[in-house]
Amino acid sequence: MKEIEILVIGGGPAGLCAAAAAAELGAHVLVLERDSKPGGQLVKQTHKFFGSKKQYAGDRGIHIGDFLLEQVTESPLVEVWADTTALGIYEDGVVTAEKDNQHLKIKPARIIAATGASEKALMFPNNDLPGIYGAGAVQTLMNVAGVVPGKRVLMVGAGNIGLIVSYQLLQAGVEVAAIIEGAPTIGGYLVHASKVRRAGVPIMTSFTVKEAYGKETLEGAIVCQLDEKWQPIPGTEQDIKADVMCLAVGLSPLTELLWQADCKMKYVGELSGHVPVRSRFMETTRQGLYVAGDVSGVEEASAAMVEGRLAGVSAALSLGYGKDVGCKMQADAMEELKELRSGPTGEKTMQGLWKLTGKEGAIC
Ligand SMILES: Cc1cc2nc3c(=O)[nH]c(=O)nc-3n(C[C@H](O)[C@H](O)[C@H](O)COP(=O)(O)OP(=O)(O)OC[C@H]3O[C@@H](n4cnc5c(N)ncnc54)[C@H](O)[C@@H]3O)c2cc1C
Repeated sequence: MKEIEILVIGGGPAGLCAAAAAAELGAHVLVLERDSKPGGQLVKQTHKFFGSKKQYAGDRGIHIGDFLLEQVTESPLVEVWADTTALGIYEDGVVTAEKDNQHLKIKPARIIAATGASEKALMFPNNDLPGIYGAGAVQTLMNVAGVVPGKRVLMVGAGNIGLIVSYQLLQAGVEVAAIIEGAPTIGGYLVHASKVRRAGVPIMTSFTVKEAYGKETLEGAIVCQLDEKWQPIPGTEQDIKADVMCLAVGLSPLTELLWQADCKMKYVGELSGHVPVRSRFMETTRQGLYVAGDVSGVEEASAAMVEGRLAGVSAALSLGYGKDVGCKMQADAMEELKELRSGPTGEKTMQGLWKLTGKEGAIC
């Protein structure tokens, strides 16, 4: 059985920042990452990030991921186990994991769950036809494996992910037939929407997929307009030919380990699903188990990094490390989160956090 002071589950921006911050205060940390390259979503983000300069806005996601990984691998106090999946968190505090077909047991004094989120699917007839992908899969194919997913894409979702992936498809020489969006307005930043529109891609708001069709693989989809109650309007159907449909319809926090660990969970739509109830220091209702990043409510990499730092510092402080500087680091991270969430894009998160605690301002 491997013993460690702090175990971080998930090597995305939240997990890597948590590990770096805890090690900075002197704690020994082990990071488990199920993929072969840590970095989480960042490993496929070839675009320049938006947000605040403090969280590397203006740098490309892949470079931010490399930088965060370098930071932890340079620390003698952090071990990173890639290709290792955490399987369960048990009552006695033991965490089990799988690596190279071996079943491992780890006994940490503290745990930080930073497992991120999974893509949401959409229900419509024939949604299992080959050629229908989540946006993350399309990005992984193009930006990690260097393979285009097809020739002509119907994008579903005009949030930032749908807009950015559409632009990346165009850059890779793939035609984007249209972007359809169920809501009456575009959810992503206007700067991204303008780029794809300038390239001739129509963005059809208040539209959804009625059905997909194709003999063996996707050949096209019937889309239709929605009324203000999100009901299909008869007679508005359009046939869009495409060999790829890309679903960019949101993410759900990846919380299975937290359910299994018996953390108190709450459904908060603004945070994208069931999320753990947690203190302002990111500790869940299970003592010694902290969370950070999309698993605690879907936001952006910038917030995930700061939450990671906050969770890392809090876990290290609870073990007696960094008494002199730790509290200041905690306060700084909470202030940074407040700043990040103060603009119009942070409004939804703030509402969600308010619902989670029932107390305005209780969480950051
Ligand atoms: C197309 C797209 C564009 C984006 N653009 C921006 C942008 O411009 N600016 C911005 O700020 N944000 C952007 N984001 C959002 C940002 O990428 C995420 O908010 C951020 O990556 C969340 O960080 P995280 O560490 O919480 O989760 P993730 O990055 O998802 O990392 C979680 C990690 O945990 C690992 N993991 C999960 N379960 C286990 C397990 N059981 N055992 C071991 N490992 C596990 C996963 O493999 C993953 O590496 C974008 C996202 C997408 C999809």
